[in-house]
Amino acid sequence: MSDREIKVYKDLMGANAEWAAKTRELLKEKGIRMLNLIGSPGSGKTALLEKTAEMLGENRKFAVLEGDVETTRDAERLDCLNVPVSQLLTGGACHLEAKLVHHALIDLDLDALDLVFVENVGNMVCPAEFDVGENAKIAVLSITEGEDKPLKYPLLFREAGAVVLSKTDLAPHLDLDIRDYEKHIWQVHSGVPVLRVSARTGEGLDRWIAEIVKAGQ
Ligand code: MG
Ligand code: ZN
Repeated sequence: MSDREIKVYKDLMGANAEWAAKTRELLKEKGIRMLNLIGSPGSGKTALLEKTAEMLGENRKFAVLEGDVETTRDAERLDCLNVPVSQLLTGGACHLEAKLVHHALIDLDLDALDLVFVENVGNMVCPAEFDVGENAKIAVLSITEGEDKPLKYPLLFREAGAVVLSKTDLAPHLDLDIRDYEKHIWQVHSGVPVLRVSARTGEGLDRWIAEIVKAGQ
């Protein structure tokens, strides 16, 4: 045996878990909750955050970490509403990792916050595999996507602490029964809260604020 030191490279998920743990510790210390919104492109994640900002008005104490592959478009939408927001660009990756989230988090004015939303990169698959140190993952599924999605992409719905069923105002124009969405969600994650919301009409936003946003603050 030589006395050379052998370099050890940890697997990606191992390193990710360490950053996520650091983030969780920091959030606990600061008394902040972090929610990780995950859903397809166009499922209504940013619209939900815009409405959340409007409904909470001046009393809000939340910031948003916006994940995207390219562009700062979503961050600009929230910045217009005076929400503290940082853009996290993955440079091609289809999910956020804990290290990037941690570095963005520590640059926020944490003493002024009690809640941080992470809007993950639009994607139903791998963001669900990456712990970014959040307190809960929130799945966002619009009713235009098809009621089979919870069965086809079960990990996200299994991991989710709550599911937002968005764009419910479109139901009369579509050949569907919203109860089929709920049935499939509960088939993969029995009992998970499902919130029907429409950012357009405001349906369900009161419950979203009361049960998810204000809970634990
Ligand atoms: Mg968005
Ligand atoms: Zn990915």
